[in-house]
Amino acid sequence: MIVVVSDRGAVDGDKPDALPPLAGEDHICQDCRLSYQELSIESAIGIIHSIPTEVRDAVLSIPSEVWRERPAIGTWSVAEYLCHVRDVYSTYTIRLHRARTEDRPALEPMFNDLRARRFRYNESNVNAVLGELEATAAGFCEEIDLTGPEHWDRVVTRLPDEQRTARWLVRQAAHEGRHHLDDIQETGEAVMMQA
Ligand SMILES: [Zn+2]
Repeated sequence: MIVVVSDRGAVDGDKPDALPPLAGEDHICQDCRLSYQELSIESAIGIIHSIPTEVRDAVLSIPSEVWRERPAIGTWSVAEYLCHVRDVYSTYTIRLHRARTEDRPALEPMFNDLRARRFRYNESNVNAVLGELEATAAGFCEEIDLTGPEHWDRVVTRLPDEQRTARWLVRQAAHEGRHHLDDIQETGEAVMMQA
């Protein structure tokens, strides 16, 4: 089932809605069943390493004519999900770097739908973005390599009452990749049915 993902940060026109809450440290996804507490850092790294190839295979198995089709109002196209996953790994690279090097840094929200619109995700060069995803995921893994046992409980904040650990950043980034890989496959199936 295609869902509007809770971290999308819906923005209607130029009037931002209230930010949806971040997933908790003990989040269990009702769609892809990933459990944060059961996901070790090593397993998360394994997922993140495999995401660029799995996303490439998924996107290239969908006809390019439907990459920009949205199956329903409020959902994204294959191209938009792909750009989002690329941006997740660039954003989380900076977030993890800041978690390690700053004292309780306050993170900027991603504002996912604003990005999609302002940065014209749906007009992107999909083959180029597949390469950019390889680069941002590799960069994130390099930042994980610099993060040691003494860092995993370091804290970041977003809204004043939201704080999360460096460990959560890695689990969340792994979940984003896996969840949106499913979204890309499901969106591809839906728009091929409609074509
Ligand atoms: Zn999920």
